[in-house]
Amino acid sequence: MKVIIVGGVAGGASAATRLRRLSEENEIVIFERSKNVSFANCGLPYYIGGVIQERTKLLLQTPKSFKDRFNVDVRIQTEILSINKKAKTVEAKNLATEEVYIESYDKLLLSPGASPFIPPLEGIHSDKILTLRNVEDMDKIILKTSNAKKVAVVGGGFIGLEIAESFLEKGLDVTIVEFSNQVMGVVDFEIASIIHKHVEEKGLKLILETAVEKFTEKGEKIVLSLSNGEEFEVDNAIFSIGVKPENGLAKAAGLEIGKTGGIAVNEFLQTSDKDIYAVGDAIEVTNFINGLKTLIPLAWPANRQGRIVADNITNGNEFSYKGSLGTSILKILDLNVSSVGLNEKFLKQHNYHYKTVTVSRGSRAGYYPNQTTIVLKILFNKKNGTIYGAQAIGKKGIDKRIDIIATAIKGRMKVTDLSNLELAYAPPFNSAKDPVNIAGYVAENIINGELEMINYDEVSIYQNKENHLFLDVRTKEENERGAISNSLNIDLNTLRGKLDTLDKSKTYIIYCQVGLRGYLAHRILKNNGFNCKNLNGGYSIWSKVQ
Ligand code: FAD
Repeated sequence: MKVIIVGGVAGGASAATRLRRLSEENEIVIFERSKNVSFANCGLPYYIGGVIQERTKLLLQTPKSFKDRFNVDVRIQTEILSINKKAKTVEAKNLATEEVYIESYDKLLLSPGASPFIPPLEGIHSDKILTLRNVEDMDKIILKTSNAKKVAVVGGGFIGLEIAESFLEKGLDVTIVEFSNQVMGVVDFEIASIIHKHVEEKGLKLILETAVEKFTEKGEKIVLSLSNGEEFEVDNAIFSIGVKPENGLAKAAGLEIGKTGGIAVNEFLQTSDKDIYAVGDAIEVTNFINGLKTLIPLAWPANRQGRIVADNITNGNEFSYKGSLGTSILKILDLNVSSVGLNEKFLKQHNYHYKTVTVSRGSRAGYYPNQTTIVLKILFNKKNGTIYGAQAIGKKGIDKRIDIIATAIKGRMKVTDLSNLELAYAPPFNSAKDPVNIAGYVAENIINGELEMINYDEVSIYQNKENHLFLDVRTKEENERGAISNSLNIDLNTLRGKLDTLDKSKTYIIYCQVGLRGYLAHRILKNNGFNCKNLNGGYSIWSKVQ
């Protein structure tokens, strides 16, 4: 059998090597448009910033190593121009020699990825505006910005933030311009607000809720005209507002394209033509949680799908792809932020009935040196316990917590099962009650009615409600450093003695710094016949978004 693969990076390269491991018989040809095959695109920002110093480390395979080790024929700088489904051929163009030729296949795999989204803005084609997708782009960015002092990054998603970090660490003046009110659209606003504060403290400038409307070259510089009427001049701009699936080849071949713009595939990752499979950023996937079609351009799905397709091509369709969760993580300066599943913005927009729990806990035992705080937010269905998603932010231990929850979601565990997870513990690593366990306990309390919560964005609503009073149970000193206006301050440790000063006809909205003391106060009040609710995430989360 002859298998042709279009695109030789994450999905394509994974499929090719698995195909070879499964059988020595097949002829496997990879066509790759760029100058490199199987390169580490996720590592590119770190080479720009100097964290990765050897360029060759980014090149995981070469055409020669592919040939020697896997007997795979890799043709770099060769673009597939079209597919003839009926004849089962592709038209290939060698971009170095301009030679165009036809190659036949028995099975075809499309893994063409996604390309940076470039809107038709005036001046966008200036060579001072750069994008990052492959090694050639990376080299161009390094060359063009070698004398730059000031750069703008347009778009505050994963890639934009990673590039901004790289430039900042090289000592450049960096501004991120972002259309929405937050960076990192995959997390919710209050989590992104922690990133905003952190990056600004580190010297990165953020311009939010602002679009770039036009670019104008001015000598060696480029001027960005913004939707807020302001203009600013930089040496270079990196454009990184998102990616769109490379569906052109599939579309022209008459393959079905989904509503999201991704190539439509079935559970076996077969397109509307049974001899053509597709994987990676170019396809529309099923969201594991809600079953809806979506785009999830990340490396794990691409690699997993590549392997599944290799198995299906070799042995007949025996493996199905179970859907994507969008588990992701980012390092931005000293912070790590990660997420999995659906976020609150999505749940709100689509009228889900959901509850959230936000806990702030130590990354290790409080008495062990260098403890840092993990903020963990979990979204779930109160009735059936389905975990919709989670987000975590902090300096350490973020990957572990989000991976535990991703595993729980894939195992169809309920939010109440999180408290029952027996996780490794010793003081340098954890507390005996992991933040994931604690989030499970709080969710349990909410589900069984033991705890009522309000969220940071409901504070203003409750401030204007009759008969509702905010009760700060932190110390006097903490209260004096900042508090929600018009709140009563009674230190938790003195609360029991002051219950007779409280009014049972009122509902108390209790808060502390992160939620734990608030919960204890909540139990004291409830057990003494008071009405009360707790502020989810405490003063710490609320104050970040003010
Ligand atoms: P790609 O890996 O993009 O490969 C597609 C290849 O197909 C391209 O090289 C392209 O040249 C080639 N191609 C397209 N059309 C043709 C054609 N007609 N003929 C021949 N060749 C063609 N994901 C994460 O999960 N974590 C990260 O930290 C992360 N960081 C990233 C950082 C950067 C800078 C970038 C660009 C991406 C990052 N990603 C990350 C995303 C991840 O790299 C992609 O999800 C993954 O590579 C997708 O794999 P793919 O095979 O679908 O496409």
